[in-house]
Amino acid sequence: MPDDGASTATAPAAGDGAAVNPLRAGLQSERITEPCSVVFFGASGDLFKRMLLPAVYSMALKGTLPTDFALVGFARTQYDDAGFRDYCRQQLDLFMPPDRKPQGPLWDDFSERISYITADFTDTRHFTDLKERLDENDRQFNTAGNHLFYLATPPSVFPEIIKRLKEAGLDTSSGWTRIIVEKPFGTDLASARTLQRAVEQVFPENEVYRIDHYLGKEPVQDILALRFANTIFEPIWNRNYVQSVQITSAESLGVEERGGYYDHAGALRDMIQNHVINLLALVAMEAPISAAADDIRDEKYKVLSAIETPAYADVWSISARGQYGPGTIDGHPVKGYRQEDEVDPDSNTDTFAAVKFQIANWRWAGVPFYLRSGKRLPRKIAEIAVTFQPIPHRFYGESTDKIDPNVLVIKIEPDEGISMRFEAKVPGPKEHIRSVYMDFNYGSGFGVQSPPAYERLIGDAMRGDQTLFTRWDAVQRAWELVTPILEVWEHTKDFTFPNYAAGSQGPASANALFSGWRRI
Ligand code: NDP
Repeated sequence: MPDDGASTATAPAAGDGAAVNPLRAGLQSERITEPCSVVFFGASGDLFKRMLLPAVYSMALKGTLPTDFALVGFARTQYDDAGFRDYCRQQLDLFMPPDRKPQGPLWDDFSERISYITADFTDTRHFTDLKERLDENDRQFNTAGNHLFYLATPPSVFPEIIKRLKEAGLDTSSGWTRIIVEKPFGTDLASARTLQRAVEQVFPENEVYRIDHYLGKEPVQDILALRFANTIFEPIWNRNYVQSVQITSAESLGVEERGGYYDHAGALRDMIQNHVINLLALVAMEAPISAAADDIRDEKYKVLSAIETPAYADVWSISARGQYGPGTIDGHPVKGYRQEDEVDPDSNTDTFAAVKFQIANWRWAGVPFYLRSGKRLPRKIAEIAVTFQPIPHRFYGESTDKIDPNVLVIKIEPDEGISMRFEAKVPGPKEHIRSVYMDFNYGSGFGVQSPPAYERLIGDAMRGDQTLFTRWDAVQRAWELVTPILEVWEHTKDFTFPNYAAGSQGPASANALFSGWRRI
């Protein structure tokens, strides 16, 4: 009998009522079939223990890892294999949810596949040891010469690792070789180009996976589905109907233990250049000719190329920057940025950045795209809000009623979903008008939690799918767009810093740039 998918697999039996959710059809995860060894450079670091190891172990729990799999940790901290396995177990105990702790036969099998090399990235001998370990993995775990290298180290050592991989002959193998490069890809245009030269001398573009974990989030992937798996949005997705687009990525956290890193980065570099500009590309790009990775990435690059590069003279009129002072978050007093550990007490670093971009093409001419990101704002939120044009002529509602334009909000975090604001008549004899909302939430809609971004992205790299990884041309273009702003900001000390209180909506200059920001 033919399997007609959702209708037969999940159609509720009589009496099942709401117990069966038809949206759950097809949610099963599939095992990645190609065997491989994954090497984590920086395996004693923060990202590995909090995100990468839990992502891989979670894949093991779900049965999505290849059956023939091995994991190699590589860092300076001294461990032997047994010590590193214990370390991994302790971290999983800390960072996995209570019902998914490492235990039983699954953990035993997983841990047997873990090994570690105590190494310095500057010493080629340790890379020769790594090669021997990978050969050994091929024999013991049938990993077929397929190697995935994950650079989870400070970016300053990326070029060194890449050079040593080549010296040790690890740039090729009997199977495939792929390299995941953590963010940031460069700290400015020049350093990004230098890093790219180091990368391309060893690995061709189809082996390079530049990670931006935002792109692994389900609601971000759903932007293309919303736009191109429906007919009702695309006809109005242009300058004729859209008044403005605003993209927000806000956090209530400060710099935590990363003051030393952040004081050389800032919000524009740390968030806008990568995550927020990537969101803009997905919202504004044209329909790709297929879902192939390069067809999608071609369109992303095309729309980024159409954004007008800011002129130095225009920087102040298209941007706003801020730095938080002491304030209150969730009722608790918090210190100001300049009082944070490892931050220069006279720092000129932006902890808030807002930018207005214009896209010079037929679809978007004249529609402003407002981007903002900041720390110590009232709450953690990431969203894209598309505000449509106001009604052309008003004849309805009481004269005191405000008729707001429609707004479509793509919610990325903490809520994951889509919300549409529209105007409705308030019940009763009078013709009062008020804004109401249609909401879709992925969690309750599909009855399932979205897989963590790193899990999705590591799985994609194992499959050889580059769709959600950023191609060099787009990275370079994003740096070109923010560079004039970065340069002007860095060469002009802001004597008003700190210019927003922790827990407030950001600096007044952001409102001067755009008065229509949504409340955070
Ligand atoms: P950490 O400083 O916590 O860890 C760095 C790792 O690199 C450690 O394992 C360290 O080894 C190793 N390392 C550094 N230099 C050398 C060397 N010369 N030889 C051998 N090992 C070395 O950094 P994070 O884990 O926080 O960050 C790693 C990467 O991930 C960075 O690119 C960061 O920008 C990116 N990232 C991190 C996020 C996070 O939340 N942590 C979020 C998004 C991106 P050892 O300590 O043993 O010396």
